[in-house]
Amino acid sequence: MLPIYVDMDDVIASTVKAFIEIVKREFGKTVTHEQITDFDLKKSFQLTQSEYEHLFEVAHRPDEILAMDVIDGAIEVLTSWSDKGHPISIVTGRLTSTYDASLEWLSKHEVPFDSFIIVDKYSRPGMDDNIAITLDQLSGMVFQLAVEDSAAMAAFLANDMDTPVALLDRPWNREINSKPNLKRYSDWQDLKSFELC
Ligand SMILES: [Mg+2]
Repeated sequence: MLPIYVDMDDVIASTVKAFIEIVKREFGKTVTHEQITDFDLKKSFQLTQSEYEHLFEVAHRPDEILAMDVIDGAIEVLTSWSDKGHPISIVTGRLTSTYDASLEWLSKHEVPFDSFIIVDKYSRPGMDDNIAITLDQLSGMVFQLAVEDSAAMAAFLANDMDTPVALLDRPWNREINSKPNLKRYSDWQDLKSFELC
């Protein structure tokens, strides 16, 4: 069976919720989940460059990563897929510096997975290319399904890799329309019914 690609942030980890809490704590600013309409968090949180850099630094600390909640239903559905023999590939665009903390988080929450891959999805500075693979390398891989929240990655997977994509509905990805190999799902419960092959 072909593996299933599963993104990490805001697919299995409640990342934006953690960012909202950090922004409140560090800057005294209240922003709601529905206000995060741009994948660029500097824009969504209306931060100055220095505030954004501070947020980015705090959010990547191991203790902040380990404290992130799990998205409702994610473990249940991934476990049922894994129990049926579908290999799970966690494919994240997180900074390579989060490698150990990310694996620890997956273990802490008993997320079933067969491989853990960091991809330089967003050309972020500070990526260690001994750890992260490129988008070009990713495009040589084959998945039966990809679960994403990023509109840009969903488009890349569906268009450039011809991979069926399940896009989890988020305020920051509403501009992308469904098409035959890219479908929007409201949450993991909704995705549970996806017919795997
Ligand atoms: Mg994500």
